[in-house]
Amino acid sequence: MSPMVTGTTDNAPDQDFHPGESAATAPVEDEDGLPFWEFAARGELRVQSCAACALPRFPPRPCCPRCQCFASEWRRVSGHGRLWSYVVPHPPLLPFYEQHAPYNVALVELAEDPRIRLVGNVVAAPGAGLGSLDPARLSIGAPVRAAFTDPAEGVTVPYWLLEEA
Ligand SMILES: [Zn+2]
Repeated sequence: MSPMVTGTTDNAPDQDFHPGESAATAPVEDEDGLPFWEFAARGELRVQSCAACALPRFPPRPCCPRCQCFASEWRRVSGHGRLWSYVVPHPPLLPFYEQHAPYNVALVELAEDPRIRLVGNVVAAPGAGLGSLDPARLSIGAPVRAAFTDPAEGVTVPYWLLEEA
């Protein structure tokens, strides 16, 4: 596990944490969100859904906002979606991110349910880096599809590719 995953909430200096390394991008796992990362590690994009009324919800949380049921299941989705919004961060940035700028942070609405929006990065090609896509190629509503990458050992995260129209 990376220092980010095992970090504490106190403010003591962490000698093992270097923002310039890949740990800066490691997901912070919690009990509700853990299945998302476990499925991602198998190359599956899944969304938590209510076991009683089937309403999908994201980010993961214990209770259904519609029927208040605490039982949930993780339904696989196609990985197709549309760019709902995005930003292109500018300096000052943390050193890890500065070296990749300009890059994008995208909100993608899923084809199965546009109310479900995932945060990620759109890159130029499978396996390409964070800042590989010219931000000028992004447009709201653009079709995208999910893929997966392993930025560090034991860490798998989804990212997005532009669909060719
Ligand atoms: Zn429900």
